[in-house]
Amino acid sequence: MKRIVAVAALSLFASSAIWGQRLPDNVVPDSYDLKFEPDLANASFAGDELIHVHLQKATTSIVLNSAEIDFKEVWIGSADFKQAASVTKDEKNETATLTVPSAVAAGPVEIHIRFTGVLNDKLRGFYLSQTARRRYAVTQFEATDTRRAFPSFDEPAYKAVFRIALVVDKNDTAISNGKIISDTPGPANGKHTLQFSDTPKMSTYLVAMMVGDFACIQGGSDGIPIRVCAVPEKKDLLSYALLSAENILKFYDNYYQIKYPFQKLDIIAFPDFSAGAMENTAAITYRETLLTIDDKNASVDAHQAVVSVLAHEMAHMWFGDLVTMKWWDDIWLNEGFATWMSHKPINAWKPEWHDERLEIQETGGSLSTDSIASVRAVRARAETPAEIATLFDGIAYGKAASVLRMVEAYVGPQVFQKGANAYLEKHAYGNATAEDFWNQMAATSEKPIDGIMSGFTQQPGAPLVTLVKTECGIKVVYIGRHKKKVPITNVTLSQERYFADTAKLTAGSPEIWQIPVNLRPEGAKDGTYVLLAQRQQTFELPGCAAWVYTNAGGRGYYRSAFDAATLGKMSAELETSFSPEERIHFLGDEWAMVRVGRLSIGDYLDTLEKMRSERARALVGVMTGRFGEIHDTVVRAADRPAFEKWVRDFLRPMATELGDAPTPGESDDRRGLRSDVFATLATYGRDPQLLAKSRLLVEQYMRDPHSVEAALAGNALSVSALEGNSSLYDRYLEHVKTAKTPEEYYNYFGALPQFPSAELAKRTVDLALSPDVKNQDLFFVAGLLGNVDTQAAAWELFKSNFPAIKEKAGASLSAGFAGLADFFCDEKLRDDSQDFFTAQNLPGSERVLQNAKDRVNACIELRSLQQSNLSAYLRKPPAGAAAGATHK
Ligand SMILES: [Zn+2]
Repeated sequence: MKRIVAVAALSLFASSAIWGQRLPDNVVPDSYDLKFEPDLANASFAGDELIHVHLQKATTSIVLNSAEIDFKEVWIGSADFKQAASVTKDEKNETATLTVPSAVAAGPVEIHIRFTGVLNDKLRGFYLSQTARRRYAVTQFEATDTRRAFPSFDEPAYKAVFRIALVVDKNDTAISNGKIISDTPGPANGKHTLQFSDTPKMSTYLVAMMVGDFACIQGGSDGIPIRVCAVPEKKDLLSYALLSAENILKFYDNYYQIKYPFQKLDIIAFPDFSAGAMENTAAITYRETLLTIDDKNASVDAHQAVVSVLAHEMAHMWFGDLVTMKWWDDIWLNEGFATWMSHKPINAWKPEWHDERLEIQETGGSLSTDSIASVRAVRARAETPAEIATLFDGIAYGKAASVLRMVEAYVGPQVFQKGANAYLEKHAYGNATAEDFWNQMAATSEKPIDGIMSGFTQQPGAPLVTLVKTECGIKVVYIGRHKKKVPITNVTLSQERYFADTAKLTAGSPEIWQIPVNLRPEGAKDGTYVLLAQRQQTFELPGCAAWVYTNAGGRGYYRSAFDAATLGKMSAELETSFSPEERIHFLGDEWAMVRVGRLSIGDYLDTLEKMRSERARALVGVMTGRFGEIHDTVVRAADRPAFEKWVRDFLRPMATELGDAPTPGESDDRRGLRSDVFATLATYGRDPQLLAKSRLLVEQYMRDPHSVEAALAGNALSVSALEGNSSLYDRYLEHVKTAKTPEEYYNYFGALPQFPSAELAKRTVDLALSPDVKNQDLFFVAGLLGNVDTQAAAWELFKSNFPAIKEKAGASLSAGFAGLADFFCDEKLRDDSQDFFTAQNLPGSERVLQNAKDRVNACIELRSLQQSNLSAYLRKPPAGAAAGATHK
């Protein structure tokens, strides 16, 4: 599944309730015959199922999962002996117990159930989706909502074959995991029945059904037919997704030893979808904005999002669908792998996008998430649906992917590919655990991957590797009988857990990792791997080096620290001796030191000054990536104009060089860079020239959306909103209603929280809660909390509207709401939001709340450590003017 990052980061489950909700293991399902008849007009469905199971021992009762299902007729038995069963529902545990008068013998048995259910509006289970014109019936089952569509053994290890039939209106069609193998009129007048081919053995959460008048375009790759589908109104926006899917499938067919394992691939977008996308076996489902784009006019980012999310979901066809985790505690194996893997087909197909740099940014982002004390370990216990839902967080996706990236770099890409394939072949159509994965990787690579991966996935946090010292020396070696003296460098490294919290960092923590550290001495192009497995160890490198960089290639999942002298030498050579990926990682390390007061924020900004000539989009993105935090939370209000001036001085030359509009034939990287620089310079530099320009662009875009580059338009809308009034707000609203593409819609809609007044914030909340905004888009309202001008007012609005917000978002977001407590950077709002969410007692939210508190505290501490340093830096005369003055 691809998350939509709704409210900062979700995190782990409550540590309290450990009451089992798992099914007893005495019944094993083999296959399901399922027939559904959805009634769109009445928002309900009727179902008929025959489950073929194997009883391990004789019994009078069978427990399976079921929620919001009405049982009509139930019997258990075989062809020659059937018994009617009574049903006892346990709503809290989402199970039903079917009981028969006399014991059923061990062996094969059939369970027949007729039932009805509700097509809900909560974006989970079997639910309604709608356009202005009509309704659709669609599904989203991961993690634990299959049970809302049909009674089932709804745990990932109970893989089975599904034979699905759908009875739909004469003019409608349906899409499911299998191919349509028959289409017969009836049973009733005006209906037809579509029978789908047997699915392979798979987990319940991967079943999918979609009913309506979907329109598809067709293609194929490597002999596999591929369709991309949407509501008919969006049919013209599918071509880029099809082209991408064809390229990605070809890439994966080459990467994996097993060719695409299913008969066809359908990719379907519909108007109401809670996540970003979902990897149902051979029937990937989607939020419209991530799939349906206007290929000719959409932004670079919109194109990249299509490829990136498709690459993620399609990677799941192998990692997740073909081989599935045994239980949800290993969901990171699915999500981490798909996240890590998704970069490969992009790098192969679109090298000019430099996705390898985004990989290092992903590692940096995860290290930052991992820097608070209450963060969970990658592998985490989860039993209840609420607990399981909180596992789909930045740790399962980003950290797990970053650890895999480090391991791949350490063993080498070919060896890693071989190990991953051996794992897939061994567990195809079955389930596996983390141990299965890392034991295989250890066997294939003959390196201690089991020890490395278990340390990084079972301990919370990430290491800080400190270069304690480097010493040049002479070593005597014998070549035959000849004695030779050769120069060497002894490199001493230490490790500790990094915390963005000075007290915690100083106090120390017991975690210790086996870390593959890639050492690169000055002058060398490539690094040499050593395995740092103790608190402190010394390693020997050939040659005498002035400095040694400790994360060559930037793919290690750890922070690095250096003494001031080494740092000075390295930053002087940043542009000449470091690769772009290393520079990205280097800046992340420096910021980590700023956070804990070991480096002054002025030194950090000086490093940026040395990198002024950077024009690679990812690099500039990382360089300017902290400006928002500095502008909104670190800088003293009185110094804000000085900081804005510093931003202008820093970025104006680049903006001038890039010009106002794309030039014919320029690269995607440059086009993307222009809109990024525009947004940063206008937002955090309050550049008057750009603020005026953005108003002109907004007018132009409103008149003719194709006349302004889409990303530039999106940024111009946000920037203009920063100082916008209610009449501009009204005009945005009009365009929200008439937007032609999802990108256009979100360009306007996404800018609404940027308006600076409390009154407009209230209108945005009211709008979000009205029927005009889909439930799936409610999370945009969180942007109001990120706006410093409206934050306090928005928080009051949020609290007073919470019952309505909760009702609209649905139960599945429950614990995620607590992540809203993340947005603040002061004691008062911290305490108030903590108290508020504690009183709400949302299932699974305990850890999420603690994470939020830690992050807010880290923000407060950063401000107290660096605010006066920043003041001093901003008052400092510009470099050059101070030459010969006070520098020591
Ligand atoms: Zn996923």
